[in-house]
Amino acid sequence: MRSAAVPTRAGLMRPQQERSAATGARRIAKSLEGWYRRAKRDLPWRRSRDPYRVWISEIMLQQTTVRAVIPYYGRFLGAFPNVRALARAALPRVLAAWSGLGYYRRARHLHAAARRVVRMYGGHLPREDAALRDLPGIGRYTAGAIRSIAFGAPAPILDGNVARVLARLHGLRGPTASHQRRLWDETALLVAAAASPGDLNQALMELGALLCTPERPACGACPLRRRCAARAAGAQEIIPAPRRRRAPVEVTQALALVERRGRYLMHRRDGAALMEGLWEFPGLGDGSVDGLRLRPLELVAKLRHSITYRHITVEVRRARLLAEPSGGAYRWVAPDGLARLPVSSLVTKVLGRVIMSRTGVPVRQTTRPGVPGLRMTRTGVPVGRKPRPGHRVGHGV
Ligand code: SF4
Repeated sequence: MRSAAVPTRAGLMRPQQERSAATGARRIAKSLEGWYRRAKRDLPWRRSRDPYRVWISEIMLQQTTVRAVIPYYGRFLGAFPNVRALARAALPRVLAAWSGLGYYRRARHLHAAARRVVRMYGGHLPREDAALRDLPGIGRYTAGAIRSIAFGAPAPILDGNVARVLARLHGLRGPTASHQRRLWDETALLVAAAASPGDLNQALMELGALLCTPERPACGACPLRRRCAARAAGAQEIIPAPRRRRAPVEVTQALALVERRGRYLMHRRDGAALMEGLWEFPGLGDGSVDGLRLRPLELVAKLRHSITYRHITVEVRRARLLAEPSGGAYRWVAPDGLARLPVSSLVTKVLGRVIMSRTGVPVRQTTRPGVPGLRMTRTGVPVGRKPRPGHRVGHGV
């Protein structure tokens, strides 16, 4: 008698096929978990399974490299060690701690979600998928990461790294976006077969980051090499097919450096703008926002900056203030005061270039003004360096 087919991944699968798929998944999961325990990097967020810490790290790591996240992660947790501390904080303080990390909507969502977690769950992140995904900024991937790593639940994840590994493992040609359902099914099968769902999910991400990289994957060292369809077909370099990227757009932006007694005039972006609430140098093309009137003077720096597909040529000109702006959207800020304000990485870059052009001293710029990586005195001179003769500080314009 033929055995009945049951609905399962990729349509109908007979019990025998299902058993062999489950056995295959168990073997793959075992290999991955074993490899992860031997090869994983010692990253700060891997030293704790505290749900709050897992949540912060997962949000920070979205669209951002591990290297960029590490200093932010420690500082952010220093400032906001738990959900209640984050919920209590004013939003500008949270944005200031996030400054330079980009994609500021993540910080706004974190803050709003923390308030909701305190209000609805007594300060404890919920364990259920639906409750987590109901919080601002938490989607299917992040909920899966929190549930598996912090709570040990067999919850699948699928990000770019995981999708690439699974597409190669199963020989799925074409862009990963065209195989989303199948990929979610495959990752769900693996995590269900894992001894430790958190380790399994992190193993998939780690494999994609360290070995199964977009170019030149290190198949010789891979724990999945004997099972990998892409490797067997010699197709690692063409699976998955690259995503079509949005064509880059060239943009020019003119910024005003208005200085008064060692402070710079800064402008807060309004609620309708991208990067709302961040402080920036006023634009020279802004016209007379809030009564501000400027006369552009000499060019002090020219630099390149990219935000997603926009490649920006930034020209920074010293400018004379012809009419004082009114309202709270403008403020005079000393360089070290920028540490307490939310600013974008462009402000950091501009300030570093301006200081370098005046002092001849390259500013080590790993994060942003006023925090480790770009340390300056109030007058805008890098810490530990004396102004060279003729260096003008604190002059008005
Ligand atoms: S064998 Fe190569 S292509 Fe296949 S999963 Fe491992 S690193 Fe990726």
